[in-house]
Amino acid sequence: MRELTLSIIKPDATRRNLTGAINSYFEKAGLSIVAQKRLMLSRSQAETFYAVHKERPFFQELCKSISSGPVVVQVLSGNNAVALNRKIMGATNPENADKNTIRKDFGVSIAENSAHGSDSLENAEKEIRFFFSEMEIIP
Ligand code: ATP
Ligand code: MG
Repeated sequence: MRELTLSIIKPDATRRNLTGAINSYFEKAGLSIVAQKRLMLSRSQAETFYAVHKERPFFQELCKSISSGPVVVQVLSGNNAVALNRKIMGATNPENADKNTIRKDFGVSIAENSAHGSDSLENAEKEIRFFFSEMEIIP
């Protein structure tokens, strides 16, 4: 089934000029980038975006890291896009990620793991709406 999912190329990756390299992983695996923009998240926008994690011990570190530099937010489209994107990214901790995944190849640490991807269709819809209006998504 064709789905849309939200992806974020995190500051650790934009800082190292890896936007194009990471985008090629999505496109090679059959996902299309149907919306994309580069922006800076303020600390308070980061806290809103990651509100589901606010009780977790790494919440402050996570919000600091995602607002430390430019991010590229994007909508990916394709068959089973939510799960496929998670597979392309690899495990949260780059050390545990499979080979040829974004996090294995580019991740620096569990906090600076180069990419975010929605974890369910329901969250994908919410996260896409957080960043994009309907007219910015061109399937
Ligand atoms: P994401 O939601 O970013 O796609 P994920 O679903 O694989 O990643 P989550 O458990 O949702 O992992 O954690 C969200 C983010 O929080 C991770 O991508 C990672 O950067 C950070 N994180 C998770 N666990 C830790 C930890 N133990 N220490 C520091 N940061 C962490
Ligand atoms: Mg998650």
